[in-house]
Amino acid sequence: MSRTVGLRIHVTGVVQGVGFRPFVFGLAERHALRGWVRNTSSGVDIEVEGRPESVRAFAEQLRTEAPPLARIHDLEVASRPPDGYTGFSIVPSAPVPGAYQPVSPDVATCDACLAEVRDPSDRRHAYPFTNCTNCGPRFTIITDIPYDRPNTTMAGFPLCADCAREYADPRDRRFHAQPVACPVCGPTVWLEAGGAPDAPPTGPDAIAETRRRIAAGGVVAIKGLGGFHLACDATNPAAVAELRRRKLREGKPLAVMVASLEDARRHARVDEAEAALLASAAAPIVLLRRRRVSRIVVAVAPDTGEIGLMLPYTPLHHLLFAPGEHRPEALVMTSGNLSEEPIATSNEEALRRLDRLADAFLLHDRPIRSRCDDSVARVVGGETMFLRRSRGFAPYPVRLDRSLPPLLAAGAELKNVFALTRERDVFLSHHIGDMENLETLQAYEDGVAHLARLFRIDIEAVAHDLHPDYMATRYALERAAAAGLPAVAVQHHHAHVAACMADNGLDPEARVIGLALDGTGYGDDGAIWGGEVLLAGYRSYRRLRHLAYVPLPGGDRAVREPWRVALAWLAAADIPWTPDLPPVAAATREELRVVRRMVELGLNAPSTSSAGRLFDAVASLAGIRQTVDYEAQAAIALEARVDPDEAAAYELGLGPSTIDPVPAVRAVVTDVREGLPVGRIAARFHRGLAAVLAAACVDARAETGIGTVALAGGVWQNLVLLDGVRDRLVRAGFRVLVHRQVPPNDGSLALGQAVVAAAVLRARS
Ligand code: ZN
Ligand code: ZN
Ligand code: FE
Repeated sequence: MSRTVGLRIHVTGVVQGVGFRPFVFGLAERHALRGWVRNTSSGVDIEVEGRPESVRAFAEQLRTEAPPLARIHDLEVASRPPDGYTGFSIVPSAPVPGAYQPVSPDVATCDACLAEVRDPSDRRHAYPFTNCTNCGPRFTIITDIPYDRPNTTMAGFPLCADCAREYADPRDRRFHAQPVACPVCGPTVWLEAGGAPDAPPTGPDAIAETRRRIAAGGVVAIKGLGGFHLACDATNPAAVAELRRRKLREGKPLAVMVASLEDARRHARVDEAEAALLASAAAPIVLLRRRRVSRIVVAVAPDTGEIGLMLPYTPLHHLLFAPGEHRPEALVMTSGNLSEEPIATSNEEALRRLDRLADAFLLHDRPIRSRCDDSVARVVGGETMFLRRSRGFAPYPVRLDRSLPPLLAAGAELKNVFALTRERDVFLSHHIGDMENLETLQAYEDGVAHLARLFRIDIEAVAHDLHPDYMATRYALERAAAAGLPAVAVQHHHAHVAACMADNGLDPEARVIGLALDGTGYGDDGAIWGGEVLLAGYRSYRRLRHLAYVPLPGGDRAVREPWRVALAWLAAADIPWTPDLPPVAAATREELRVVRRMVELGLNAPSTSSAGRLFDAVASLAGIRQTVDYEAQAAIALEARVDPDEAAAYELGLGPSTIDPVPAVRAVVTDVREGLPVGRIAARFHRGLAAVLAAACVDARAETGIGTVALAGGVWQNLVLLDGVRDRLVRAGFRVLVHRQVPPNDGSLALGQAVVAAAVLRARS
């Protein structure tokens, strides 16, 4: 008889709610091992015994053959004497007080579930809430850990006998799938339309009626995974225009859902990496180059040649696109909110807040615990670049090489995402949005409380932006004051650069040259920064250079009215405001008089080094846009116009402490007056800015000996600038860091705040 050996294995990471125990069960059976597996609050425990080579193979394959959604952080393996187990079993969960583990993000419908939904003989045929251990809702329905059905919003749906059998069978795909449901025992959909006297249509009838209404040009609010969408026919210009009018959203791009990868390819050019991202379990909105032949109306995304597409990620979405009458070709699926408000999540809230926006409501009775907007990403050089990291990714943590104390990092004012830390994990929240109203603040406070509870985080300190008036800053400071916690103020662009360092796994002592380019951030001199060359470590930074200051006439108004910044740059360049120049022509005589006073006297005109505003100014001077509907719209339009064949570049001055755009502004004006095509002006500006930024890095390296550059801040969403700067830096021998796991914009600010605050607190103690 051969020798028997035993192992005890503890696995941490995303290993619950992803089919890990059935996988362990199957693997143990395959190797004829005895023992058990169980969930704990901190991961999964396993004991196995059997022949030495089988036990070894088992331990190896735990890692190499883990289910697709599992993410193993650590696998601790220890030998133990055999216990004489007779079989292999899955034993009840063992809670460990205070322990925590990551929560899985929501996962798009898997192929096996989709096949059932499409199979007329299956008991889940056409059932919109079909899911299994490989797919379905997770973060959005979890109310607490451990991840068991009573701790989800499925608690109110007792399993029918058939579902209970699947749930209890370790050989079934639905073994311990917490959201498991079927038409007998699970949630239902129904359609509510204002004033309709009859009983609302439910199930397949509700979906059919939704399709009919959309085909007829209507707008339907559809309850999804993390909130409501407003849906309309993306090929119907009148429907799109009406949706924009109701939503008060004039120019901002609207996301579009299409049935399949094949369909996506008919509307946009999709390369292999983009296809993989579209069809991934996270199913984000992917920005793609629109095809001319696409029937999706251009007004969906008017400023660029791009379009944001996503694929169906719930069975309900798949049913909206199923073959048959009124099958849509493409659906606008924009977040169900009025501009600036958070996305609606409950039926009552949607019926109240979306009343004027939607003609009908496709509702269901599975509650949404956490609102979660769609994520937005693009592929750059084969790598994913996030623009918004939310559904499908949140609340998965960014994992560091070191432990942090438990912190709340409050995040920014716009595109807010906050962070909570525990040990090596930085839990970045879902997208909270622009902190400009009470609803968003409430969503923020609820989010902080919920994540702190899920991950058992007892906050010991807070990190916040330097800006005293940010809602998130005030929340953090009030919280710190009430609980007597230390608060660490972190300069906005230092946070950006530190976030990029942490995103790339730089060690605690690392230092980099940071090119922090974005729209707005409070500087330590009270000015509005945004075009910064920093020498930065986690703990501190020194400002090496910045874009020369210019007054921002009217403050925030200048963000909406780029002509104001253009006038300020003309004044800085001593160029008279003559009406042949587009920003001058765009203003009334009274406006010109007021802005003149602001610029000359510095009244209501804070100094700014913002790169985003410089792009706005050039877009205005070139005649592209004088006013915008959302921040950076003019800059985005400028980038979209760049003529790739242009070889010339504008010069920007490189002073001892500044980068001076004045020579470039003068050159733009000359070219505008000579009637040079806008595409060439746009290209010359991008090329000139890239060259001067690279030159500033070469200088900084000469001074400091540091050869790593971190590109951080929202302006790096500009791919022409990104490519231009990266190419120049790589050729000059630099190591260039860009964001990978989180966006370059303010959606990653909290990560930077957290790592900076941890370094500051460590130095203090
Ligand atoms: Zn599935
Ligand atoms: Zn059932
Ligand atoms: Fe920023």
